[in-house]
Amino acid sequence: MISCLKNKGVVFYENEEVIDIKVTNGTISNITTNKQELIVDEVVLAAGSWSPLITKKLDIKIPVQAGKGYRINTIKETGISIPAILCEAKVAVTPMQGFTRFSGTMEIAGINHKINTVRVNAIANAAESYYNNLEISPKEKATAACGLRPCSPDGLPYIGKSSKCKNLTIATGHAMMGWSLGPVTGKLVSEIISDRKLSLDLAPFHPDRKF
Ligand SMILES: Cc1cc2nc3c(=O)[nH]c(=O)nc-3n(C[C@H](O)[C@H](O)[C@H](O)COP(=O)(O)OP(=O)(O)OC[C@H]3O[C@@H](n4cnc5c(N)ncnc54)[C@H](O)[C@@H]3O)c2cc1C
Repeated sequence: MISCLKNKGVVFYENEEVIDIKVTNGTISNITTNKQELIVDEVVLAAGSWSPLITKKLDIKIPVQAGKGYRINTIKETGISIPAILCEAKVAVTPMQGFTRFSGTMEIAGINHKINTVRVNAIANAAESYYNNLEISPKEKATAACGLRPCSPDGLPYIGKSSKCKNLTIATGHAMMGWSLGPVTGKLVSEIISDRKLSLDLAPFHPDRKF
């Protein structure tokens, strides 16, 4: 996908942090990163759990909380070939190429990547209790990682333009469904920016909605 976009002329600035945004007459004119200053015409904000930190600079409130989830990968042959959700334990099981991934938990503990081993062990224990002969090693538990899901108060993402800024399209708050919903959100964002007919009524996802 990335090489396809690069072939079409899309330029990626990697490992670069947006540190300031300049607004002139309700329109973003410049974005300053830690490496350069960009003059912009349209801006898409898709900064996940960090989105409120950026909209704060624009005096826009986007309530998003980081919901931390953990994953453990096991490279041992597990014989698991069917993805599953262990409903009672709230653990997702995903056979990947060369390893099996167990993931779960929703920890509301701010923006950080600290690993809570109690939660990691709970995922491992749950997985082992569902699958005969499955053993997750201490090393695999020790290399567990976490990620931050951007969660909104009503569980719906924010997709659309804030009334406070003409050229800012917000696309965040996808919580546990960001990989699945990324493509459709991308399509909607392109329709918003190019002023095309929307494929979906976006009223429930409006960034200005109140709770
Ligand atoms: C354990 C786990 C399992 C999951 N499983 C699934 C699943 O099976 N299916 C599914 O659909 N979803 C799943 N998700 C959820 C999915 O990962 C999220 O919904 C998705 O990552 C949200 O995407 P995003 O692009 O909005 O935010 P992020 O992925 O958080 O991306 C935001 C990006 O913005 C960058 N950023 C922040 N601030 C700045 C700044 N100032 N300047 C520049 N860049 C900045 C961050 O570095 C980050 O790269 C899972 C999440 C976890 C944690």
